[in-house]
Amino acid sequence: MRVKKYFLQTKKETPSDASLISHKLMIRSCMIKQTSSGIYAWLPLGLKVLKKIENIIREAQNSYGCQEILMPTIQQSEIWKKSGRYNDYGPEMLKFLDRNKKELLYGPTNEELITNIFKDYINSYKDLPKNLYQIQWKFRDEIRPRFGVMRCREFLMKDNYSFDLTIKEAKRSYDNMFKCYLNTFQNMGLRAIPVKAESGAIGGDMSHEFHIVNKSGDTEIIYDKKIDSLKNLTSDNSYQILRNIYAVTREKYNEAECIVNKNDIVVTKGIEVGHIFFFGTKYSSALNAYVLNNQGKRINVQMGSYGIGISRLVAAIIESSHDKNGIIWPKEVAPFDIGLINLNSKDKMLSKISDDLYKLLKQNHKEVLYDDTLESPGAKFANMDLIGIPFQIIVGLKSIKNNELEIKNRKTNIITKVDLNNPSQILKQLN
Ligand code: ATP
Ligand code: MG
Repeated sequence: MRVKKYFLQTKKETPSDASLISHKLMIRSCMIKQTSSGIYAWLPLGLKVLKKIENIIREAQNSYGCQEILMPTIQQSEIWKKSGRYNDYGPEMLKFLDRNKKELLYGPTNEELITNIFKDYINSYKDLPKNLYQIQWKFRDEIRPRFGVMRCREFLMKDNYSFDLTIKEAKRSYDNMFKCYLNTFQNMGLRAIPVKAESGAIGGDMSHEFHIVNKSGDTEIIYDKKIDSLKNLTSDNSYQILRNIYAVTREKYNEAECIVNKNDIVVTKGIEVGHIFFFGTKYSSALNAYVLNNQGKRINVQMGSYGIGISRLVAAIIESSHDKNGIIWPKEVAPFDIGLINLNSKDKMLSKISDDLYKLLKQNHKEVLYDDTLESPGAKFANMDLIGIPFQIIVGLKSIKNNELEIKNRKTNIITKVDLNNPSQILKQLN
């Protein structure tokens, strides 16, 4: 993609209503545009990152045996009345009438709807277990939408739902998703810590939130400091430790019950990026979702639900990965692999070399943002730093004279010189 053609109107100024660094950077780098309070349009650069995160989540879900579906954003009120949540959910739920005065709502979550769909198809224990997921927009009329997409009203969520015959099997499904989440976050270059949590409006007796430790987070989390010494959260060993170690949200914290020595406890802030629940038959009994067991007896299915805040993740990643010049994308979710900068686009030789490089990189399946505009070198550098692409290739007269290119690593700021005429050396530097 050439910068000239791209919809990338980056800004130098910081919007006055933005206090969080991720909010400022997302607006300056032309990723999102607020259209109403807590409601955003996603622009090309932002949408690219959102889609990358979405795909990492999708792949993990698929590899754990979940199947993708897509439910509507608009739901009818009846099923919510049956579960009791039509009133319980409170003013966060956006309710409205259609032209026939039928009560509708914009889904804040989908436990009722999925249970209602499931029960029309699955009638026998032989068809269990099942695990269905979707990636869909949700609406919650947050009392104080703030911090950009971190806490907004319309947001993208991955939500999935497990259905099992017995509590034991349902807990196995829960464990499976616990592991899946550890892998999912690691696959996007993040370290998310699972902590025991309250179930809130969803209900149920077992629940974990997954938190990115960060001072901008709005949840206080308390955990055994041993977690900080775990290098890799996704090994089998770490999984065992994380399931049994002391780690809770402030709401769950109880000094009398805390088994860890005061000096061994970390109290910090976290950004909640995922939340999993086991709630047994809460919805299956309310909505009459049952299967026949091997003795022909009706059994309400045991359910769990599992959410990841996809749009919030974009902001959470920026909160944990930026410097004074802008965003530093982990390569797994970066909008482009490489920013190619021609320092003087009026120079024929530089332009030929840059154009050839652009072709070479594309042939090697790299996603490249190519700046061959007439802006000053300083402006080009500032722009590339702001939008945070992992590598910059700098084509300038000085290095070309020595048959060299400069490759800058955005994260380390280290510049490596490579032989201009050695494509394999160039490509090797970009991994
Ligand atoms: P929070 O405590 O942050 O309000 P929640 O516990 O109400 O979130 P869940 O019902 O657990 O949210 O939803 C699953 C995930 O969706 C959350 O872990 C979070 O990442 C994301 N999410 C929830 N509310 C919002 C919001 N208003 N804006 C952006 N993401 C959200
Ligand atoms: Mg939650």
